[in-house]
Amino acid sequence: MSDFDLLVRGSEQDIGISDGKFVALGNNLSGSAKSEIDARDLAIFPGVIDAHVHFNEPGRTDWEGFETGSRAAAAGGTTTVFEMPLNAHPPTTNRESFEFKQAAAKINSFVDFGLWGGLVPGNLSDLEALRDCGVVGLKAFMCNSGISDFAHVDLPTLRRGMKRAAELDLLVAVHAESEEITSTLTGAARAADRTGVRDYLNSRPVAAELEAIRCAIDIAAETGCRLHIVHVSCGSGVAVVAKARAKGIDVTCETCPHYLVLTDQDMERLGAVAKCAPPLRSSDDQRQLRDRLSDVTTIGSDHSPSPPEMKQRENFFDVWGGISGCQHLLPLLIDAEISAAEIRRLTSGNVAARFRVNAKGAIAIGRDADFTLVDLAAPEVITTESLYYRHKQSPYVGRTLRGRVRRTFLRGQTIFEDGKFAARPFGRLVRPDLS
Ligand SMILES: [Zn+2]
Repeated sequence: MSDFDLLVRGSEQDIGISDGKFVALGNNLSGSAKSEIDARDLAIFPGVIDAHVHFNEPGRTDWEGFETGSRAAAAGGTTTVFEMPLNAHPPTTNRESFEFKQAAAKINSFVDFGLWGGLVPGNLSDLEALRDCGVVGLKAFMCNSGISDFAHVDLPTLRRGMKRAAELDLLVAVHAESEEITSTLTGAARAADRTGVRDYLNSRPVAAELEAIRCAIDIAAETGCRLHIVHVSCGSGVAVVAKARAKGIDVTCETCPHYLVLTDQDMERLGAVAKCAPPLRSSDDQRQLRDRLSDVTTIGSDHSPSPPEMKQRENFFDVWGGISGCQHLLPLLIDAEISAAEIRRLTSGNVAARFRVNAKGAIAIGRDADFTLVDLAAPEVITTESLYYRHKQSPYVGRTLRGRVRRTFLRGQTIFEDGKFAARPFGRLVRPDLS
């Protein structure tokens, strides 16, 4: 009998793992192990929990799917993803669609997965069943979602939904951009045949984001619903959230790597591959976002790919909006010189805490042995061939990143090592703990 299944010798501490859990931490751990790894030259991070991916399965697996999406995630040090309710068909808005997606993910996912439920007009009576299924939260769009089978909520619908979510103790996440402002500006630009990248940027101003964030916060205050604003793109948005939280409102926010490392000028330069909503912002907005990072709770990739044809449109408003980024969440943050402590907080510790997934989120005794080994002395050039996505598109192609993910472990087992993956996927459903 060995003391450990796996013993990792690290520069800061040694890590003992048995039965898929961290069981011992300390300097110069003694005891026998079935296998031992010398990671003293590598940085060790807890497995990233990417709470925002669109893998589009079932129904639009040709856009990505759990197999390729989860491989890319694992290759970037991510061990758990929370998959969004739209872009799959049917969208995850009731028990049947949850079970349908869970079945697909179980067979195909190399990483553990939580599933978001949708909050859409007409599914109020399905929310309890979604809670019982174990959704990590409910996602609602305050503006057009870009996908016809996932309608956005008007404010009365959002209010009723958040009231019900509060009763069910479910977290609600919103895509916060004002439908009124964005649809008015979009309509005017299209009517005037102004359909370039800059016209698109102008149709989704910071003001539209701030307006929607404030509305959602007001409803959270009124209903007592736990609120998470996803993909906040600018420092002023984070400031509004921080101010509300200081007043005791239970609201947090997420940002994404692309808002930290790309700007509106990159969108103009790169075009369709860098289209997203909210759009990329000015370098001033980006600086303010960096300055406000301590008020951000989580960072997710908002990985949202599409077939290449949907990125090839004359009119930029017609181009699919979504950036492929789940493979580089952690490496981009390391490269952006965000401290290791801050990265751990934003990509694992806070995510587990906010979503009440207490088996994950830290290298700590009793938690799932999810972690990744990163070589900070091995720069990596992102090439098209190095992408594991179904469609080899990324706005980061051509960049050289400072760190290279060498090996990723899920519950103590290797799921990725130097370009190779586990023989078969063994990802499991992750559900929030009941409070
Ligand atoms: Zn998204």
